[in-house]
Amino acid sequence: MLDVRSALTEASRRLDSRVDAEVLLAYALSKPRSWLIAHATDALSTEHMSAYALLIEQREAGEPVAYITGRRGFWSLDLEVTPDTLIPRPETELLVELALERVPMDGACNVLDLGTGSGAIALAIARERPNAAIVATDVNAETLAVAQRNARRHHFGNVSFVHGDWFAPLSDRRFDVIVSNPPYIESADPHLEQGDLRFEPMGALASGADGLDDIRRIIRGAHLHLVPGGWLLFEHGWNQGDAVRALLGGAGFVELSTARDLEQRDRVSLGRML
Ligand code: GLN
Repeated sequence: MLDVRSALTEASRRLDSRVDAEVLLAYALSKPRSWLIAHATDALSTEHMSAYALLIEQREAGEPVAYITGRRGFWSLDLEVTPDTLIPRPETELLVELALERVPMDGACNVLDLGTGSGAIALAIARERPNAAIVATDVNAETLAVAQRNARRHHFGNVSFVHGDWFAPLSDRRFDVIVSNPPYIESADPHLEQGDLRFEPMGALASGADGLDDIRRIIRGAHLHLVPGGWLLFEHGWNQGDAVRALLGGAGFVELSTARDLEQRDRVSLGRML
């Protein structure tokens, strides 16, 4: 019979990742990851061993850990994720930080999150700004249902959900701040066929030959949905900063800037509509 420590050693070798091995064992045992350290010499039951073996096989076949466990942490939230949602990335927290600088703590503020996926961005803003009213959209009804479950689980009453393509379901509603993590990968990018990306919804990743099709639509539509002085902020690829600032400028946005993520790569651009 294997104990926790040797099961982890073996799985870490097979998966070439200690973190993945720990997350999956904790999931198989329905324990927090921290439990594993204090119970390194506990024996694993046959049932737990075979459950763990199955999870390791799924991971070896390439399936992302977040889809196997159905969870991913983002900001201070534990979120449900499914193959209908993009897996939230740590670098997207930069978009949340920049948005929060533009959403006052007190007083009303209307925020729109376009293409919310698991709801990560909308719910992180909702957590930090209980007085803001946040609308989150998604083109995919199954995806929106995941975001709604995440909102319910965390008891957020200040987020509402709308089903539809970018601005289409919003008629003439206007917002103080619009945020989005749209698809922005070039459709021929070979990375789409590699690693975790293979399992994620293509519609949340790829956006035309230069990756900017959806960003162009968002920029074009935003002026009809921002109040005067309102901000548009969105995530993009590391090599798209110049192009998106040019698009923002061309559409009449001012106070343009691009912020870099922790790896010093262009990641979020923003501008203001006067
Ligand atoms: N940041 C993601 C990646 O490069 C892409 C997410 C997106 O297109 N919004 O893996």
